[in-house]
Amino acid sequence: SNLIETHDLGWRYAPIADNGRPILGLEHINLAIRAGEFIGIVGPTGAGKSTLCMALAGIIPNLADGEMTGSVLVAGMDTSTVSVADLSTHIGYVQQDPESQLFCASVEDEIAFPLENRGIAPHCIDDRIDEVLRLVGMSDYRKRVPTSLSGGQMQRVALASALAAEPDILVLDEPTAALDPDGKREVFDTLTALRRSHAGHNLTVVMAEQDTSHLPQWADRILVLDHGQLVAQGDPDIFVRQS
Ligand code: ADP
Ligand code: ADP
Repeated sequence: SNLIETHDLGWRYAPIADNGRPILGLEHINLAIRAGEFIGIVGPTGAGKSTLCMALAGIIPNLADGEMTGSVLVAGMDTSTVSVADLSTHIGYVQQDPESQLFCASVEDEIAFPLENRGIAPHCIDDRIDEVLRLVGMSDYRKRVPTSLSGGQMQRVALASALAAEPDILVLDEPTAALDPDGKREVFDTLTALRRSHAGHNLTVVMAEQDTSHLPQWADRILVLDHGQLVAQGDPDIFVRQS
């Protein structure tokens, strides 16, 4: 059965100028993603990758200005009728820019915050911080100030924070795009390890990525977007040039 489905999903951003027209984000997106799949989303800048990530994470339509058509179902829930808070127990979301998603004074607070919001007991939160920092290889950085870390380290903290509430789904919007080569490698290595450690645990990952060179290592299936439409999908090997 499918963990995520979209049915003729469309999204238009609200016009930027008063007399402007709505801007096409997505149209006619029909998707079915099974639990445990690792999905890569590729396509040129402006293709709709971020918009699709936001739609799957429930940012669209709940926190964004624009017009949605069709529907997104996550674990059977229609995202347009469920709160972002409720969705966040199912979906962890990591953005491209590491700094814009880290708010707290310490790495441990960054991970504790979403758990405190859900009323989790402090001793459970403490164990969970240990566990997710171990998962992303950042155990030694628990007391550090997030913004003092390297880009790759910040992104691993963002990943740890997204994993804290034990989501079934991770949505990663070009998590390495803003990183230097070392940072990119760190994040990809972390994702590979994460995938391995979750084998059998059915963590479903949806990841937008412009650099296709890593895709065969981690993706089961690639979705190709262009001009807001899903123009192709299939095995990762098909989309990676031989070198
Ligand atoms: P990608 O992630 O593949 O680069 P996006 O989803 O960011 O593509 O963008 C899809 C289209 O939506 C582009 O034409 C982009 O300019 C437009 N767009 C994205 N965000 C906004 C926004 N906040 N307001 C208006 N248009 C937007
Ligand atoms: P991405 O490729 O991940 O979408 P962009 O550089 O295209 O990154 O966009 C960065 C930010 O600008 C995003 O928050 C996006 O929503 C917003 N954005 C993108 N295109 C437009 C646009 N045409 N008008 C307004 N905001 C936009």
